[in-house]
Amino acid sequence: MKLENPYNLPIVDAFIRLYGELIADKCAWKDRTVRFLPLPDYDNKFRDIIVRYRDAIYISSSEIGQLGLTRPEIFASLAHELGHIVYGMQPFGVDAETRADGFAAELGLASQMISVIEKIIQSRRFRGITSQLVQRIQFLQHLEKPEVFQECYYG
Ligand SMILES: [Zn+2]
Repeated sequence: MKLENPYNLPIVDAFIRLYGELIADKCAWKDRTVRFLPLPDYDNKFRDIIVRYRDAIYISSSEIGQLGLTRPEIFASLAHELGHIVYGMQPFGVDAETRADGFAAELGLASQMISVIEKIIQSRRFRGITSQLVQRIQFLQHLEKPEVFQECYYG
């Protein structure tokens, strides 16, 4: 899998420097490219923080700022979205969010992923799914071996 940062976003640069090799080792898809793109406010009516569409991951710097995410927490969020791409079509019994969290955990970002979810709960922006968010925290807390999801699925 190739990771591209056409807008040279500094946080994405750092993410690729730190985790790019590990991700390439996990997912040796030579013909698949994921692009990281900015999400401007005028295009963000749902106030998404980091959101994926097909093989692109859009990043709202203003929503990240409002939520107060730290750099490692942003890395965990980027890994989570990549996890949706990596495990997108895999027919596991766990739900898609948990699978994506599992990918962040595989990169060593489980505790950062937990603190992202805690900040989302505290912000009360997704009040309807608080119990699902709590379940995701519990999953990450009890993940002893993050390598539960081994194979990348070309979906
Ligand atoms: Zn997700």
